Amino acid sequence: MGVWARFRRRDPLEHCPICTADAVSAVDRESLDASFAQLELRCGVCGTWRRLRTSSAAAELLEHKLERQCRWMRELAELSDRERMVSDADAFVDALRSEIEGADDFLSRTRA
Ligand SMILES: [Zn+2]
Repeated sequence: MGVWARFRRRDPLEHCPICTADAVSAVDRESLDASFAQLELRCGVCGTWRRLRTSSAAAELLEHKLERQCRWMRELAELSDRERMVSDADAFVDALRSEIEGADDFLSRTRA
């Protein structure tokens, strides 16, 4: 199956016509009238950008999907940061436990 055949089956707003990635983001949106909007879309994989007209409802749906995906990516990044901080803290505690032999040793190391 060719690239164009695969692309035609997918939502053209969400998929790049060049590389078929679903990493398209809306760079700009302009309402043309009550029913139609012009979108400027850019592919996050290959950088291809395009301008197209679509219904206002489709433009709004895409905007909501992109906002939801951005929120999901922010949450994943925050979770990853938290997991890394916990891992760093665990490693620090393990290092302290393996190197410090009792309260006197701890006090002598921290009050030098
Ligand atoms: Zn692309």
